[in-house]
Amino acid sequence: MNKLAGLFAPFIIYFFIFLLNALLPGRWVNGYITRPGSDVKLRYRLNGLLVFNIVIITWIVLCLADVIEWDWLYQMRWYTLGGAITFGLIFSLAIVLPFPQVKKSFLADFYYGRIENPQLWGGRIDFKMLLYLTGAIMLELNVLNIAAYHYIKFGSFASPGLIISSALLTWFVVDYLLFEEVHLYTYDFLAERVGFKLGWGDTAFYPYFYAIPLWATAEMPNPGTPAVLIIVYLLVFFSGWGLSRGANMQKYTFKKNPYRPFLGLKPEVISDGKNTLLVNGFWGLSRHINYLGEILMATGIVLFTGYPSVLAVWLYPLYYVALLIPRQIADDKRCKSKYGALWEQYIKKVPYRIIPYVY
Ligand code: NDP
Repeated sequence: MNKLAGLFAPFIIYFFIFLLNALLPGRWVNGYITRPGSDVKLRYRLNGLLVFNIVIITWIVLCLADVIEWDWLYQMRWYTLGGAITFGLIFSLAIVLPFPQVKKSFLADFYYGRIENPQLWGGRIDFKMLLYLTGAIMLELNVLNIAAYHYIKFGSFASPGLIISSALLTWFVVDYLLFEEVHLYTYDFLAERVGFKLGWGDTAFYPYFYAIPLWATAEMPNPGTPAVLIIVYLLVFFSGWGLSRGANMQKYTFKKNPYRPFLGLKPEVISDGKNTLLVNGFWGLSRHINYLGEILMATGIVLFTGYPSVLAVWLYPLYYVALLIPRQIADDKRCKSKYGALWEQYIKKVPYRIIPYVY
């Protein structure tokens, strides 16, 4: 019975998130991309943080009322993972099959998707935003359950590093939801369709794979990380966060108002009369300093678990490297075709792709 509940848990949680996303009040905003064949911006209704809070509070209330155990999702992890994988597959088929073919091969269509920005009820539900929200909340539930498991197992001997890692992953999720609107200006919205990659990726891969550093060390005792290393690890994580959040906010501020200073810094630009690119601040350090930030944050989370010799914990930052290097190359290609000579000029001015003076 418990195992069956584990299998169906993601279905129930995801449906609850869908309902809350559709029914709770939200803030309507204009997105960055336009409707196909028009200059009208797509509209979005954002209420991610509210949905997140309601789901987490509901979970805590269910635990307090002894309906579920604090670490139930961790105990049932293989079943809930199975449920999430199944849900992701069903969703991917449902979002691909009914729509006209885009690529020659069905597999390519299935993986990348056929429609660009599926929405329901005039943007009340946007599937890309819903998918990110679903993945973020499920990740947070997994993080809380793993931390609870560790604490129940070790009590006062629990590893402070594992608890800090859990708190930093929570920071990562909440930060994303606080700046939900900024993410409407990212590559996923500009260039991706919704298929297996986003559908399965956000509902099965993201909420489980990102928790790997915690999964891999939840059963292990306190490694006794010295205080000085804790400070170094905090610096690694927050310097990463600063680079990533800073670059995203600078670009967002610029796209909304090209003359507005960001953190007191006036935008310095290059222009061909038609298009304009930022060349100072974070965007003058490298062409994708935000990707370096993301990798540093993941590294900080791994280091805090206190077991750098456990190879599995490194899968999380390594995945970022494997994801973000090809993504930078693809984005460069896209920008080259969009901006032409202006992009070449940008590359001359800012020659590094991700890591200043290295790559
Ligand atoms: P960017 O935010 O770097 O967006 C790239 C786009 O920005 C380009 O296509 C171009 O679009 C515009 N642009 C590029 N250079 C300039 C410039 N100099 N001036 C003005 N506009 C410019 O990349 P992503 O969308 O890939 O990433 C967004 C965030 O999401 C990053 O912080 C990334 O690390 C994070 N991310 C997180 C993941 C995770 O799993 N945690 C996964 C993937 C990304 P335009 O057409 O508008 O000009």
